Amino acid sequence: MNDLDLLVKLHVTQERQGPGGPEETRLAARLTGLSQTEPLMIADIGCGTGASTLELARHFNGSILAVDFLPEFIEELKARASKQEVGDKIHTSVGNMEALVFDEGAFDLIWSEGAVYNIGFEKGIREWRKYLKPGGRLVVSELSWLTAERPDEITQHWEREYPQVAMPSQKIAQLEAHGYRLLGYFPLSQDCWMERYYQPLKARFESFTLDNPDRADAVKSIVEENLLEIDLYERFKEFVSYGFYIAEKL
Ligand code: SAH
Repeated sequence: MNDLDLLVKLHVTQERQGPGGPEETRLAARLTGLSQTEPLMIADIGCGTGASTLELARHFNGSILAVDFLPEFIEELKARASKQEVGDKIHTSVGNMEALVFDEGAFDLIWSEGAVYNIGFEKGIREWRKYLKPGGRLVVSELSWLTAERPDEITQHWEREYPQVAMPSQKIAQLEAHGYRLLGYFPLSQDCWMERYYQPLKARFESFTLDNPDRADAVKSIVEENLLEIDLYERFKEFVSYGFYIAEKL
């Protein structure tokens, strides 16, 4: 049975679908060095229900195109945007980040929080570059090691789950090799994982279980999988996080 519909139901009610936070989004936005008054063309790829999209709409002037391949997330984002003063800056598109239909050179800024891993960091930074104007900025958050030395358990786990996990220096070298200059890097704090993402997700498990009595087995296994992921994060939080990479197209 395909449980994607259940995963969507679990996450669509949530503020965000991955680690991060409003202060971190704003910090990365400032590190782009882009004007807050000039009208900019911005894309937010893998936007989920729009935590970063809404923050970008508050921070920048201009137009933000929020893209995700799950229509339920896009609908939720539209509903949230319509309740905010900045909502009219936000436009949405249901689309696959692997097959974007943007015009080349269309954007001043391409943003993607906790999502580029779906096509892989290297492919994402390579393929999305053409959609940036010359001098445009790319901002992505990406799973990255915090230390060169780590317990085998966490190294093996992530190398199996996401073989592109690497030290920030390697990610930065990839950006440089693909025609970008690094403007900034910082790792997400532990609060971005626990307070902002995992604790609200844990708080959702009960209503998620009660709402889906006919799918009890699938629900149970999704909850258990998430609890294992949270436990792994808590045990190894000194060794791995998401890094925010802020770069300029050369
Ligand atoms: N940026 C959001 C969501 C991160 S979760 C946040 O930080 O809260 C990753 C998002 O990528 C999900 O919303 C998922 O639906 C989307 N996604 C996964 N694969 C995708 C693809 N191939 N094309 C477009 N979106 C995709």
